[in-house]
Amino acid sequence: MGDGDRNGLRVVLLGPPGCGKGTQADLLSERYEVPKISTGDMLREAVAAGSALGRRVEEIMARGELVDDDTMAEVVRERLAKRDARDGFLLDGYPRTVPQAETLAGILSRRGEELDAVVHIQVPEEELVQRALGRQRADDTDEVIRERLRVYGKKTEPLVGYYRARGLLAEVDGSPVIEAVSESIIAALED
Ligand code: AMP
Repeated sequence: MGDGDRNGLRVVLLGPPGCGKGTQADLLSERYEVPKISTGDMLREAVAAGSALGRRVEEIMARGELVDDDTMAEVVRERLAKRDARDGFLLDGYPRTVPQAETLAGILSRRGEELDAVVHIQVPEEELVQRALGRQRADDTDEVIRERLRVYGKKTEPLVGYYRARGLLAEVDGSPVIEAVSESIIAALED
């Protein structure tokens, strides 16, 4: 995948809610010494802080819908401009739509950078529902969980083809135990 050296890794983790990408992003972030950038975490922090952004996105998130692309572009542009993201990053939860993928490509190309790889973590839908119910947040109803999966299929899954067409996609089986998934990702990145 690409020619990313160990300290210059620019990677997107792509996969449905519950596929384990947050956990994998944590592990990879430690291994490659690049920050994990989770837009979901950033938005939850904004909600907890009661900021203007937080107030704007709170209800949308509670419904399992997506925050609009312009708002997300602002959030990501600001975060990627920080010093720690200069030499690489692991994006967890962004991009989630084709326009977001284009925004990201634009931000990177203006810096003379590009993605090294997009890791697609695949987990059968049945298993996702089971996992989601298991780790259900107090304010998540089954309906919200299902809505998140539906939105993923409709708006985010097209990114698989988008990145495959650009030669960036690495497919990884997300069913095994965490360590095994992690090894598959590392193997794909260092291929
Ligand atoms: P996550 O923790 O990644 O599942 O994100 C939690 C929620 O934050 C999502 O269900 C969306 O409402 C919102 N969110 C996070 N990242 C994005 C994004 N890239 N685009 C739109 N909404 C997002």
